[in-house]
Amino acid sequence: HFFFAHGSVNDDMLGIKGREKVGKWFASASNRSKFLVAQEKGNWLTHLQITLMISRAVRRLHAAGVAHSDRSYNNLMVDPTSDGACINDIDGLVVPGKFPPDVVGTPDFIAPEMVETQHLDKTDPNRKLPSVATDRHALAVLIYMYLFYRHPLRGSKTHDPDATRDEQLTMGSQALFIENPTDASNRVKPSQLSKAQLPWGDPEKMPCSIAGPLLSALFQRAFVDGLHDPHQRPSASDWENAIVRTVDLIQPCPNKCEMGWYVFDNTTRPKCPYCGTAYVGKLPVLNFYSSRHSGSYHPDNHRLMVWDGQSLFPWHINRAIFPNEQLTPDQRRRVGYFQLHQGDWYLINENMPQMFDVTAQKDVAIGANVRLTEGGQILLSREERGRLVQIQMANV
Ligand SMILES: [Zn+2]
Repeated sequence: HFFFAHGSVNDDMLGIKGREKVGKWFASASNRSKFLVAQEKGNWLTHLQITLMISRAVRRLHAAGVAHSDRSYNNLMVDPTSDGACINDIDGLVVPGKFPPDVVGTPDFIAPEMVETQHLDKTDPNRKLPSVATDRHALAVLIYMYLFYRHPLRGSKTHDPDATRDEQLTMGSQALFIENPTDASNRVKPSQLSKAQLPWGDPEKMPCSIAGPLLSALFQRAFVDGLHDPHQRPSASDWENAIVRTVDLIQPCPNKCEMGWYVFDNTTRPKCPYCGTAYVGKLPVLNFYSSRHSGSYHPDNHRLMVWDGQSLFPWHINRAIFPNEQLTPDQRRRVGYFQLHQGDWYLINENMPQMFDVTAQKDVAIGANVRLTEGGQILLSREERGRLVQIQMANV
């Protein structure tokens, strides 16, 4: 799956068919729209899943005490048409404090403090070398590029008439987020973008807030609070947690547009940010609560948006289960799904032996279903940390 099956447009004019899929092709707005055929682009959900796999890979590297000195999109083989991602450049791995690597990394992903000090001798104690903190910057840039197809620090601001010096300042001591909420001096000027870069190249049209509240908060930490303060940067595990919850907030675009999926966090009328198509009809939202001590349920700040064919998995019905590489084969199997039938929404029980309709005070057997109604409550598991859902009907 890590090779192009269909290739580029115009009968593969770039000759990429059969070549390795390097990240660059997917993480740039103009490369995507100019060259990749629709089957190779993947949709926004597959890109979100790629960022999840990358975060997971980086979390595991960091847990093993390894930093990746040369994390760039070219070093990540990705497959947006399924959902695989792996870090393939093992040579670039460094163990922090063991030996300084020669590879400094692709400029786009180097942390500002490294760019700022890279003129210093390698033995100079002030020179910042690759570390977990610089990796966290690279990871945030990578996630931002996969979701929005633009670089978070490349805006319209010029710091120096000399191009080399300007690049050093843009990525180093003067680095400034293009979506900084208080300093607008590095905003993207849409007039400077080519048609192929739109709408993604323009943060006014596709702000990072379209990724939902959890990821927006992490982009703020990475590119506002933590840009020049490495200790404030989100960890790979922070990203992993936020992405897992964001996947549950996603809705398919009714227009089946190129973006295909978008985040709906229940704060506005649901509408696809890419094509503008509004969602029509009732939209159930499941708010999760879990048991802490028998009989008492607390909100988990986790919700699931329902769509036709949406699945419930073991990590939805028990707070103790987290979807990561440690899931057993049993925990990867869905336990229920949602279906729209004649204007009403139903949850079908496939494998929840303890499912209980709290509102109607009756057990829901495997194979049976419950109609979703405003304010309805369903117990999904009676186990310790088992989940109770409260249904909310949005868009009514
Ligand atoms: Zn759309």
